[in-house]
Amino acid sequence: MSNTDQKARICVIGAGLAGCEAAWQAARMGVAVELYEMKPHRYTPAHHSPQFAELVCSNSLRSADTSNAVGLLKAELSALGSLVMEAARATKVPAGSALAVDREKFSAYITDKILSHPGITVHEEEVTVLSFDVPCVVATGPLTSDDLAEKIEGLTGGEGLHFYDAAAPIVDAATVNTKIAYFASRYGKGDATDYLNCPLTKEEYDAFYTELLKAETAVLKEFDASSQAEPTVFEGCMPIEVMARRGVDTLRYGPMKPVGLPDPKTGKEAYAVVQLRRENREGTMYNLVGFQTHLTFGEQRRVFRMIPGLQEVEFFRYGVMHRNTYLRSPGMLTPYYSMKSQNSLFFAGQMTGVEGYVESASSGLVAGINAAKMALGEPLIDFPPITEIGALAHYVSESPSPNFQPMNANFGIIAPLPAKVKGGKSARNLVYAERALTAIAELLHGELGCLSASEREAL
Ligand SMILES: Cc1cc2nc3c(=O)[nH]c(=O)nc-3n(C[C@H](O)[C@H](O)[C@H](O)COP(=O)(O)OP(=O)(O)OC[C@H]3O[C@@H](n4cnc5c(N)ncnc54)[C@H](O)[C@@H]3O)c2cc1C
Repeated sequence: MSNTDQKARICVIGAGLAGCEAAWQAARMGVAVELYEMKPHRYTPAHHSPQFAELVCSNSLRSADTSNAVGLLKAELSALGSLVMEAARATKVPAGSALAVDREKFSAYITDKILSHPGITVHEEEVTVLSFDVPCVVATGPLTSDDLAEKIEGLTGGEGLHFYDAAAPIVDAATVNTKIAYFASRYGKGDATDYLNCPLTKEEYDAFYTELLKAETAVLKEFDASSQAEPTVFEGCMPIEVMARRGVDTLRYGPMKPVGLPDPKTGKEAYAVVQLRRENREGTMYNLVGFQTHLTFGEQRRVFRMIPGLQEVEFFRYGVMHRNTYLRSPGMLTPYYSMKSQNSLFFAGQMTGVEGYVESASSGLVAGINAAKMALGEPLIDFPPITEIGALAHYVSESPSPNFQPMNANFGIIAPLPAKVKGGKSARNLVYAERALTAIAELLHGELGCLSASEREAL
């Protein structure tokens, strides 16, 4: 049965993790959903199953512990009736403290729920043109088909879409040793707190350089390796380990150049310097400037922790390099995941610059609820940045970073606590979690009128 006869209607493009979550949330609010998916007629290079919500790589949805940011994100999504979380719980397999799933059953569960929902009509077709008659959620993922990617790029004025992730690691500022690292901008220009600098002696540099050359890189996906566009990344954004192979001093004249950054302890320039640039307004996250990398996560931890000042650093996000279609979202999207210049057009999933399965579902939930609210003529919902769901939405739409790169759930993006918590990181994270889940409960009992009375009572 087509839903075109119903009044409030939205469309969702892409039945991946974000698209299925968006469609589900809108449908349970009583809005008719037209869901478009190009499978099984056409597959991206990473998709192989005809089912919806296909997990293209790992079968793990990562930590289930709420003292971990992605664990908290899962708890928030579960509280909000997420279909992805319901499917994950129903199909989970033993994986210690992580939530891993049987990927076939997981996709089958979601496919069945979507296909059997009377409010959702599925169209098996590739979308190549966007129309704005009804609110629409574009959730076509990191491997969006070429024609649609071109249309989206056109909508953004031609420069709003990235095709690669070339991200440097982001670390927790609180774990940088500031007895060694010092605040300073090159030649004293700009705000000194924008940069933390880690000085290296010749011996430290040589040891770091030797290990960097030996470090193991991640396996390049076949479709990344064969991509015609790959040289673009290497010209503009060369991985640090590739640059290092050009010669022992190349890094000292590139991302590790010490000029204009005298160490206040000696008054002299060091042999080499690693600069960390502030990633958010609060100064809780810093990225390693010029350290985009394809090393495995374990090797990033091992080798980058050799840098003086970073010996005990915690990584919020590791460096990655792979094919990824995503928007230059800050300033272009709102925290509702709608486009500022075309407010009936919403984006969700990896496309928006969130990174990860659960993060994609999270943006799908926000975009789906808000697209449905718009179709119903109701005020949209701004998820507060004290929740992980809201922190992600605010980060991708408002990040001040000049080099915006996809972001996963972490406590560096969540609004800081008003006071320091005693008892270390886990105690602090539990306070974050408690505050976030309270805010979600308040939303559910207030603004989020999308639940039926029985669903609300069950909470
Ligand atoms: C190779 C690869 C491996 C990854 N591995 C992991 C991992 O292990 N863990 C992790 O947490 N994250 C991983 N990610 C990142 C991310 O979490 C996943 O890509 C996730 O599936 C993104 O969800 P999504 O809903 O945005 O997109 P997808 O799940 O990819 O869904 C997009 C859907 O849109 C459809 N589509 C595309 N274009 C069109 C069109 N024009 N018309 C209609 N339909 C269309 C696609 O067929 C697909 O079904 C990986 C990404 C890639 C590219």
